[in-house]
Amino acid sequence: MLLIERCSAWARALQTGNLVRRAEPKPDPDAPGAFLPNGAAAKSGLTKSILDAGWQTLITLVCAKAADAARTVVLVNPAYTSRTCSGCGHVLASLALAEREHVCPACGVISDRDVNAAINILRAGTALRQASA
Ligand SMILES: [Zn+2]
Repeated sequence: MLLIERCSAWARALQTGNLVRRAEPKPDPDAPGAFLPNGAAAKSGLTKSILDAGWQTLITLVCAKAADAARTVVLVNPAYTSRTCSGCGHVLASLALAEREHVCPACGVISDRDVNAAINILRAGTALRQASA
């Protein structure tokens, strides 16, 4: 029961509203009143995907399935998982969604953005699991 209660709290804490927020307009400094591309089209696609996925429902279902199978679910804080280099830990100041490659200026590692983030999430989840064991 503790696992189900904790999963429900995690699902409630997931702030999908922050993930689906509109992209900020970028004023063009060379043309007053005009705007530069801000990645709104790409953001719009991601927003639809996030809303379609029903992440809170997904977390609840995964936790229930894990409880049935006597498995552990570890939720990881996703902050900076894309911007942190999985090779050396350097954190990029920014990484636009349209940039699909993570290029580390500190160690030179080049990796797919999602693969880099997945490695960081795996490490964080493993550390959390070991800390609670
Ligand atoms: Zn690096």
